[in-house]
Amino acid sequence: MKAKIITLPYGPHHFCEEHFIQFFEKRVKKTINKNKLARFGETIAVGVSGGKDSAVTLSLLDKFAGKHITLKGISIDEGIPGYRDKSIDQAKALYKELDIDHIIVKYKDSFDYSMTEIMQIKQEKGLAQKSCSYCGVFRRTLLNKHAREMKADKLATGHNLDDEAQSVLMNVFANNIPRLARTGIINGLEKNEKFIPRIKPLYFTPEKEVEVYALLKKIPFYGELCCPFSSGVKRNVFRTAIDEIEASLPGSKYALMNTLQEIQPILISHVKQEALQECTQCGELSSASVCKACELITKLKMSSFMKNSKKHAPQEKQGCSCEAKHDLSKGIELASSIK
Ligand code: SF4
Repeated sequence: MKAKIITLPYGPHHFCEEHFIQFFEKRVKKTINKNKLARFGETIAVGVSGGKDSAVTLSLLDKFAGKHITLKGISIDEGIPGYRDKSIDQAKALYKELDIDHIIVKYKDSFDYSMTEIMQIKQEKGLAQKSCSYCGVFRRTLLNKHAREMKADKLATGHNLDDEAQSVLMNVFANNIPRLARTGIINGLEKNEKFIPRIKPLYFTPEKEVEVYALLKKIPFYGELCCPFSSGVKRNVFRTAIDEIEASLPGSKYALMNTLQEIQPILISHVKQEALQECTQCGELSSASVCKACELITKLKMSSFMKNSKKHAPQEKQGCSCEAKHDLSKGIELASSIK
């Protein structure tokens, strides 16, 4: 009998290396096929940061649908030296290994500021907006824009079960029902030719298992450090809370996502989604006359001309604060030989 090296508490399932890989791939393949995430002849753009989630997403889309679809990579460079440059190096290694066309898009070229410069302005001028609020808006805008320019039918992202469970809780606690209604394996209720539907092949796959799979399959990915601007982000509160619930009650993340899937048709039928329009400044999609990205850039530019604020907004701590994210020992038992 083969040695059991991996235990998943929510089953509980015990796997050897080979059978864990089979189990993992079967679940992702089922998510792709059941939800028709990749149809014959489609072009799918994949947002690849170089982290484990997007690396596994690209690898498995290539493995399961590569013969029938065209895959293209988009890597967004936020301009965070020592972090994103290293992860993009891993993304490039994967593109090369899989022979996939790709582009690298810099915030600096698109919005005039890198994230590092934005953080400097924030601190000098005492701006209260969180780093990820800028970054998330800019990334979504660029991914949609460049996927559309590639003539992609869909945009795949590496969001996993943990990301999605956190987002559900965040939307519940923010009372953001419209966003809760439109999140899913295929994101967005928007019907607009400028909007590229986003697909999530890892929707039912726990984050820790993605890392184990990437290590076992020797998929190149960057996993040494988190973003230096991620300390204190709201998502970390929900990550810790939901990981603690999962540790006490294995299977809770799946239960939460199943609940969402069951109530989502009711939410969709009752929630009025905002109509999308084109931003009067950049032409990208927006729910208001000026899109969020242009609004943020305008504020940054105006702040640059202002005197430094005497009354500073609370400063964001810098550094990575998500120990739980890196602690593979929680919720999954692994043989030490994997690394
Ligand atoms: Fe951007 Fe925040 Fe992610 Fe850092 S943690 S890359 S600032 S969204």
